Amino acid sequence: MATRKKTKPKPACCPDCKGSGEVPTTVLVGRKRRAVGKQSGFCLTCLGTGEAPGDGE
Ligand SMILES: [Zn+2]
Repeated sequence: MATRKKTKPKPACCPDCKGSGEVPTTVLVGRKRRAVGKQSGFCLTCLGTGEAPGDGE
C-alpha cells in the first residue's frame, strides 16, 4: 500500500485556478438560476496568489 507523504519541494499551483489567481464564475439569474454567462472571479482557494493553500511556510 502506497503511503502518500506530505512533502513540499516547491509551492504548488492552486488546483482551482491553476495558478492564475482567478476562476471563471458562472453568473446565474432568476429563480431557476439560469446561467447567462461567465465572468472572471477572485479565487477564494488561494486568495488570488495562484499558489495552493498550504502551511504558510
Ligand atoms: Zn486559486
